[in-house]
Amino acid sequence: MAEFDYKGSWNETLSQLRTDLGEEEFSGWFSDIKYLRAGENSIVVGFPSGFHRDSVITRYKNIISAKLQELTGREIALEFEIVAGTDENASSAQNNPAKNTAGKEFREPDSSQAQKPKRKQHSHMRDDYTFENYIIGENNSFAANAAIAISRNPGTAYNPFFIYGGVGLGKTHLMQAIGNFIHENSESKVIYVTSEEFMNEYVQGVQVKDLSPLRNKYRYADVLLIDDIQFFQERGEAIKDEFFHTFNTLVNAKRQLVMTCDRHPDELRNLSDRLITRFNQGLKVDLQPPRYEVRCAILKATAENRGTVIPDEVINLISKNISSNIRDLIGTLNTLISFTEIMKQPITLDIAQQKLRDIFASRKQANLSIEIIQKAVADFFSLSVNDLKSQKRTQKIVFPRQIAMFICREMTDFSTTEIGEAFGGRDHTTVMHSISKIEGLLITDPTLDSTIENLKRNVKELSTRQ
Ligand code: ADP
Ligand code: MG
Repeated sequence: MAEFDYKGSWNETLSQLRTDLGEEEFSGWFSDIKYLRAGENSIVVGFPSGFHRDSVITRYKNIISAKLQELTGREIALEFEIVAGTDENASSAQNNPAKNTAGKEFREPDSSQAQKPKRKQHSHMRDDYTFENYIIGENNSFAANAAIAISRNPGTAYNPFFIYGGVGLGKTHLMQAIGNFIHENSESKVIYVTSEEFMNEYVQGVQVKDLSPLRNKYRYADVLLIDDIQFFQERGEAIKDEFFHTFNTLVNAKRQLVMTCDRHPDELRNLSDRLITRFNQGLKVDLQPPRYEVRCAILKATAENRGTVIPDEVINLISKNISSNIRDLIGTLNTLISFTEIMKQPITLDIAQQKLRDIFASRKQANLSIEIIQKAVADFFSLSVNDLKSQKRTQKIVFPRQIAMFICREMTDFSTTEIGEAFGGRDHTTVMHSISKIEGLLITDPTLDSTIENLKRNVKELSTRQ
C-alpha cells in the first residue's frame, strides 16, 4: 500500500495560520493538535479532547481545508481523532467549573456527546447566532476570541465590551453568540435589547410616571447586551442619563455589559464626556470586512446550513463581487438558493451570473447618487460641489476630488465612465488613476481609513435625509 505524506503541507498550513491568527490565538487552539497519518486524499489529526476538536472544526475547518487545497492542489478531507491523556488543562477545567459573576455554576458544554441535549433558547435572540456559526478570519479573530473569553467568564475581564464596525459585519451575531452561550450554560439572566427598544421603554415609563419596571428589569440583569447604541446620540439628556446610571450600576456590580455601535466611541456625537469615558473603559474591538477566503468560507457554511450544495465557482463569483458587507453576501446567496428552489433548477454559474446582474441593477437604482457623495465630501473639506467638478488642480481640491471618486466607486455601482462624467466630464482613466492613488495612500497613511469611513457615514446620513 502506498504511503501518503502530507506532513509538509500540514506544517505549512499551521505556519500560515499562525501568521493569520497571531501567536496567542494560534497556540490556544493549534499547539496540541497532532498530525497522525494520511491517506491518498485525507489527513488524520489528533486532538486532546472532544470539546477542543469540535471547537476547531466549527471555527477553522473551512479555512484549514482551503489552505490545504491551495498547498496540495487537491481536495483533502480532514479526519479527526481524540488522542487521550494529552490535555491536563482540559480535564482540570472540567473538574473545576468556572463560576460566573452571579456565583452560579457554569457548565462547559461537552460537545463530543453524540446526542446533544436540546438547546435552551432565549426568547429575544436568534438561536442561529452562535459561535458555532461564526466564521473566524483575520478580520474578526481578535473580536471573536475576546467574545469567547467573555462568554466563558462574564463580568470579570473585559467589561464593558464594546463591538464596533460597519453595517452587516456581524456585530449583532457576535453579541448574541455571547448571550446565547451564557444563557445556555448558566442560570444567568441575559437581556438583549436594541438601544431603540430601551429608549421606547423609557418613554413609556415616563408617560405612566413609573420608571421602576424599567430599572428592575435592566439593573438586575447578569448580562446586558445593548445593540446599536449610536441611536442614543439623537435623543434627549434624560434618556442618556438613564442609560448612564444603568451602565454604572451593572458594571459596578460586575455584571457583564456588551454594546455594539457603528463607530468608535470617540466618534459619537451629542453624548456627554462621562458616557464616552465609560465606553472607553473596557475592551473595544472592531469588525472589518472579511477577505476573499473568509467570504468563501462564510458562503459555504451558509449553504451547508441550508442543506444546499453550491458549486465552488458560484461561491467564488459571489465572493468576488460582494466584499464589504456580510449581510449582502449571505443575502445574495439566499436569493440565489430561493430562486433555484422555486424554479427547480440546479444552481449553475450561468444562473448565478444572471441573478447577480439583476441584484446589482436593482441596488444601483435604490442606491446613492453621485451628487450626494460629492456634497458630503465637499462639506467635509469646506469646498463646494462645483470645486470638485471644476478643472482646478490645486492640491486643496485634487485630493478631496480623488477621495470623492474613490467613495463613488466603493459605495455605488456606477462605472468609471459615469463617475468621470459626473466630475466635470473627466475621462475614465482619470477616475481609475484617482482610485488607485487613494488605494495606495490607504496602505501608507493609517489615518486615511477612518477619514473615509467618516465620510461614508456622512454620505449615508445625507442620503437618508433626502
Ligand atoms: P451587524 O449587526 O454588524 O449589522 P449582523 O450581526 O446582523 O451584522 O450580521 C449580518 C449577517 O451576516 C448575519 O446573517 C450574520 O449571521 C452574518 N455574519 C456576520 N459575520 C459572520 C461570520 N463571521 N460568520 C458567519 N456569518 C456571519
Ligand atoms: Mg446589528
